[in-house]
Amino acid sequence: MNEKIWLSSPHMSGNEQSYVKEAFDTNWVAPLGPNVNGFENDLQSYLKEDSHVAALASGTSALHLSLILLGVKYGDEVICQSKTFSASANPIVYQGATPIFVDSERETWNMCPIQLEIAIKDRIAKGKKPKAIIAVHLYGMPYKVDEINKVAQHYNISIIEDSAESLGSHYKGKNCGTFGDLSILSFNGNKIITTSGGGALVAPTVELKNKAVFLATQARDDAPHYLHSEIGYNYRMSNIVAGIGRGQMTILDSHVANRRSNHEFYKNAFKDINEITFLAEPEGYFSNRWLTCILLDSKSTREGLRLALEKENIESRPLWKPMHQQPVFKDSPRYLNGVSDELFEKGLCLPSGSNLTENELNRVVLAINSYFAAC
Ligand SMILES: *Cc1c(COP(=O)(O)O)cnc(C)c1O
Repeated sequence: MNEKIWLSSPHMSGNEQSYVKEAFDTNWVAPLGPNVNGFENDLQSYLKEDSHVAALASGTSALHLSLILLGVKYGDEVICQSKTFSASANPIVYQGATPIFVDSERETWNMCPIQLEIAIKDRIAKGKKPKAIIAVHLYGMPYKVDEINKVAQHYNISIIEDSAESLGSHYKGKNCGTFGDLSILSFNGNKIITTSGGGALVAPTVELKNKAVFLATQARDDAPHYLHSEIGYNYRMSNIVAGIGRGQMTILDSHVANRRSNHEFYKNAFKDINEITFLAEPEGYFSNRWLTCILLDSKSTREGLRLALEKENIESRPLWKPMHQQPVFKDSPRYLNGVSDELFEKGLCLPSGSNLTENELNRVVLAINSYFAAC
């Protein structure tokens, strides 16, 4: 059997272990320390735009704290892009609030500004103005920032930017992770950089960052004894994990370049296969191409191809199954136009890691070519 080719696997720079070793040598084995501060500074310098970063245990915890910071409470409604990973939506439920799912448009596969406005108007007509909007840059492709912002500003609703898949992407020259009233990043094992597990909240002011860190470290008031006037969480990133993050930041741009070159390689390899199309980058958009996704002409081609790849020990995966199709969210309100359902039926993510070898990329192309030659 050929060796397994993964969709997206960790890719170390070699610098990580020196930061981790330093943490051991200095006994900073705790959820604070020089690596935590160093990693936050690295992210701030990378993102620019006066961003203030709180390193946390996961992207999911960053989303949860974002909702808390925006005052989302029991009984509130929060709009969320339906086409996403469940972690975008779950924290809404942690707060006892209701997710309202909004469909995608075809140019970026992200939240459709038209459906967004329909949803907001209808929720207001039904008696409740949504408290926040969670918009996602899926697979690294920026959402329609100007259009979504315009709707959000018109109704005066805050945006949480889920940038878990889009560190290294930018829109009209500005980095993803700096567009929301609050933004989040993820460093889980399959993301563009990884700390084995981790995330961050990006805030526009140092006060909001400090408030996030306060909540993430059990909401301890300033007193010699343990004093609490708010509910806290144990969501801070550890200094060991942050050491991996510092090492990863040294190669973020080359990871982006590798993933983009994978995308170009596939695009070129399949240019004569009519059944395969790619998501183009609109003018002004720059995707980190975290995952290269293809659209097939039908659900049966998509599933046939997925199984053919699996037989060759190559991992591929259908695009995210929309949240409005998930059993756990069957009762949540939704505003649909059919786009995310169609993308789910016809879309497939191909192996996209920054560490794929030429040999591995060629194996994927060969398997896909053979599939289409046989049918
Ligand atoms: C990975 C991911 C998250 C969650 O991040 P974790 O660090 O795994 O908690 C949230 N949203 C999206 C879109 C993701 O892909």
